[in-house]
Amino acid sequence: MKLSERDIKNIWHPLTQHRTAGPPLGIVRAKGSTLFDEEGNEYIDGIASWYTAMYGHCNDTIVDAVTAQMKQLDQIVFTGFTHEPAVQLSAKLLEILPDNQDKIFFNDNGSTSVEAAIKMALQFHHNKNDKRNTIIAFENGFHGDTFGAMSASGLSVYNGPFEDFFLKVKRIPVPMDHNVKEVMKLLKEIIKNNSCAAFVYEPLVQGAAGMKIYSAEGLEKLLRHCKQHGVLCIADEVMTGFGKTAKNFASEYLKTDPDIICLSKALTAGLIPMGITSCSLEVFNAFLDDDLAKGFFHAHTYSANPPACAAAIAGIDLLLSEEIQQGISAISTAHKAFAERIRSHKKVAEVRHLGVILAVDLNVEISRYGKLRDQLYHHFMDSGVFLRPLGHTVYVLPPYVIQPGQLEQIYQAIIESLDLFN
Ligand SMILES: *Cc1c(COP(=O)(O)O)cnc(C)c1O
Repeated sequence: MKLSERDIKNIWHPLTQHRTAGPPLGIVRAKGSTLFDEEGNEYIDGIASWYTAMYGHCNDTIVDAVTAQMKQLDQIVFTGFTHEPAVQLSAKLLEILPDNQDKIFFNDNGSTSVEAAIKMALQFHHNKNDKRNTIIAFENGFHGDTFGAMSASGLSVYNGPFEDFFLKVKRIPVPMDHNVKEVMKLLKEIIKNNSCAAFVYEPLVQGAAGMKIYSAEGLEKLLRHCKQHGVLCIADEVMTGFGKTAKNFASEYLKTDPDIICLSKALTAGLIPMGITSCSLEVFNAFLDDDLAKGFFHAHTYSANPPACAAAIAGIDLLLSEEIQQGISAISTAHKAFAERIRSHKKVAEVRHLGVILAVDLNVEISRYGKLRDQLYHHFMDSGVFLRPLGHTVYVLPPYVIQPGQLEQIYQAIIESLDLFN
């Protein structure tokens, strides 16, 4: 029996309406930028499996590092114990994170890295006897599916049944070149009228919103105003982290460093789930006290799982290597040329790119999970390219090791997709 037939009996898939969804595709192997299905078909992984496998699937360097670690120490409670991979990874990360980052807190996925960040921010003020109960976040942001992260997220397609149970969140639009003044005005009003604990944002690029790229200067102004009013700035770099924007972290485009940073996805190069919440010394120090209850009582069983740390260490070494840096700049250059190539096509409404991120908005009305979207998806799969259109936005975020011919095949499939709609 095929994988897809055996699957259907027992499995409840994420983000899936099982009444109407077709059977899932059985994938048996992945290498570099290529996925292989059980029928022997190949697909180029144009989104690096949700931007995790950035150094290519089953990368030998990463697999070897993880294998060696597995034979040495598999798992250990991270309260009261420590180990070499965690110590090494923390030092390596702090070398490349923005200068003010000083402590590394481990968790196990992107949502929990945001969840921990929000709890840190709330308790930071609580420990200082400063009653602050409001979170500021962007419209259409995405920060994960646990309650705190979901509250901060502004994509209502996912939130409907839960909104009554959310944290207190005030939303502002992202600053674009034309609206910075209005957004600043709104932020000032919110901070004046509410007790704001933190501002959570995806720096420069809103991933799930359709790779929306916004103004760095605008964000800079917002961050400065937040800092001046004691509002902790939480940069959710779960998507943007580790080279996607052509810098190690999108926060490097800004002068103001965030107080807290959330990491996951490419952190462990697509091998093992892990999340990290890093923070400044000022944040950490607010938890030091003779009173036990002022400590941060938040833990995940698999915190700092040693093989996951080994994957992350090997991943950072690769990220900083000349080969990967060249890959990143080659993709950026290719994206730029492709954007020019299709910008004036009548079915293209807008093209955006930053680093290895490219997004094309089609000049066609397409709902986020509707029939047209599925037609677009299947067009790409039939062309041997795995892309997941978000409504009318087709985005590409390929592994840094993608071959030029494979990238061209993705571009070609996008050009052909423009002819689907008349
Ligand atoms: C994917 C994502 C998350 C959630 O991460 P999970 O590992 O899926 O829980 C949070 N924030 C951003 C910006 C993301 O892209």
